[in-house]
Amino acid sequence: MTSEENIKLAELLFGHEELKIPAYYEALYPYRELGNKAEVTRLAPSPTGFIHLGNLYSALVDERVAHTSDGVFYLRIEDTDAKRKVEGAVDLIIDSLRYFDIEFDEGAGYDDADPVNAYGPYVQTERVEIYHTFAKKLVEEGKAYPCFCTEEELSGIREEQEAAKLLTGYYGEYAICRNWTFDQYKEAFDAGRPYVLRFRSDGSPDKEFIFKDEIKGEVKLPENIHDIVLLKKDGIPTYHFAHAVDDHFMRTTLVVRGTEWLASAPIHVQLFNALGFKLPKYAHTAHMMKIDPETDGKRKLSKRNDPEMSLAYYREEGFHPHCIKVYLLTLLNSNFEEWHKQNPDKNINEFPFSVKNMNNSGALFDMDKLENICKNELSQLQVIEVYDFLADWAHRYEPEKKKIWFADEAKITDIIMLYMGVGQKRRRKDLVNAKQAFDQFSIFFNEFRKQEEDFKLPAEDVKTILKEYLESFDYNDDNQKWFDKISAIAERNGFATDRKAYKADPESFRGDVSDVATTVRIAVTGRSNTPDLWSIIQIIGLEEMESRINSVIKGE
Ligand code: GLU
Repeated sequence: MTSEENIKLAELLFGHEELKIPAYYEALYPYRELGNKAEVTRLAPSPTGFIHLGNLYSALVDERVAHTSDGVFYLRIEDTDAKRKVEGAVDLIIDSLRYFDIEFDEGAGYDDADPVNAYGPYVQTERVEIYHTFAKKLVEEGKAYPCFCTEEELSGIREEQEAAKLLTGYYGEYAICRNWTFDQYKEAFDAGRPYVLRFRSDGSPDKEFIFKDEIKGEVKLPENIHDIVLLKKDGIPTYHFAHAVDDHFMRTTLVVRGTEWLASAPIHVQLFNALGFKLPKYAHTAHMMKIDPETDGKRKLSKRNDPEMSLAYYREEGFHPHCIKVYLLTLLNSNFEEWHKQNPDKNINEFPFSVKNMNNSGALFDMDKLENICKNELSQLQVIEVYDFLADWAHRYEPEKKKIWFADEAKITDIIMLYMGVGQKRRRKDLVNAKQAFDQFSIFFNEFRKQEEDFKLPAEDVKTILKEYLESFDYNDDNQKWFDKISAIAERNGFATDRKAYKADPESFRGDVSDVATTVRIAVTGRSNTPDLWSIIQIIGLEEMESRINSVIKGE
């Protein structure tokens, strides 16, 4: 086709739409006035109604890069696949990420009339006019053409290629509509035949080029030879085309996206060149992996098999967002853990995050490591922070406990302090998440308490120990005096008063003092593993302790 015919074809396809000219958008969306180190990043999820750890992982990279460089982080909604769209998904994305302290500076979620949203609209289906302007430009320049192939024709091509053991796809001599005459296009168009708009690739099958990835370094990739689809039959763009147009006009400087997109990078480089756009920087992030407990091998975290893939899981279990953030930063930047240890009082947002320090070989998700981080971090928080966090969580997930347990503020504060080890030589690391904390705290509230564990000693011994315990108990004893009395009970009943003595000569004793203390502990709390029992008794009070022990003695 001649250049005039290309222009005629563009007019034929888009003439009925009132489109702006490309220069209009260049002027409407000027380069952002930011410092020269500033990065503009975006999160570009599809509104599927499911938001997962991988999204948060990516979002944290975007957010940190933008905000440590005085740049901009925005939210774009990629809703070109109508089948995957779910009502309310945008609010879910914003709300879920906000919980983890990830805030967008602009984009979906803000009103487009708001001055922060100068690069909108941020929802792809509201940008069709812009895509068509640039699709038309590509047709005018002979870089795109309509393809009227039917599904049958396309599968015929595929079968032929498969039989000949060739690369499958729409390229070269198999790209039937690529070299049609203007009259052929016009005839098919006038006949109302449905068509997609395809890119006319100038890639060569045996050429490679170097792609610079901010995480992976230089990667050798083959040129793209496929005449990929730019606009689908309904005029909605594909991801490839929308990505090029949007990231150009929203003036993104760094595209952070999953490693599954790396293979499409040759298409994107070609498209940016064809459109005359400057290529942004790219950072392809590794998949989240885990060790499969069954095979002991590494595998991708899966939405279907791993509940911990969903962000909702962390909220429901009551993981403190700060802990999740610390964990993800530990995974993301190899030098974060050391920095955090050396700067325990600094806000983690002060960490000099860098894409260059990101791990290229896959992020291994490890629940034990996360739980350890939670234990450490929670023990370092202020009591009031833990109190507020637990109260908020309970308000949403355990409203009954919220009402009853938090009615006595002093009591619940004492409990939290006990589990954090406040005032003790070293902080305790008992708390992992709100759900687990509430399970532990239930020992303080009679109507929620359960006898979780059986006694380890014979019933007669249990009774004797408990009776003697009650007889000698004085609420005013300090911790030491209280324990001395337990030791005395141990001695009277044939238990060694210290562990060493028992170990040295187990035959001479029925056990040691810890067996006696455990008996009292199980009677009072229903469990053998709790923080300091004397402190627990101080919180529940004399009457409650007596009543719990008496009911064991009576065999209730
Ligand atoms: N909508 C794409 C996805 O959800 C975004 C990829 C990108 O960030 O460019 O995978």
